[in-house]
Amino acid sequence: MNNKLQITICPTCGSDKIRRVVRDITRSYKGQTYIVPKVEFYDCPNCGEKVYDREAMLKIEANSPAYHKADALVDA
Ligand SMILES: [Zn+2]
Repeated sequence: MNNKLQITICPTCGSDKIRRVVRDITRSYKGQTYIVPKVEFYDCPNCGEKVYDREAMLKIEANSPAYHKADALVDA
């Protein structure tokens, strides 16, 4: 687990209050909103900055309508 992103200071405001959280997040793609369940990311309560690591980005991508476009075409 040494390759996990470790953040103790917010890159935006410098606050040390930034912490790792697990939340369902809502994203939008071409006006269509979708929910990505249980994403781990860093959230800064001071400035609202959110930092996603590679794992989180992959999970968001996997839940994106853009990613599932091929499946949708096969379905139709
Ligand atoms: Zn911050």
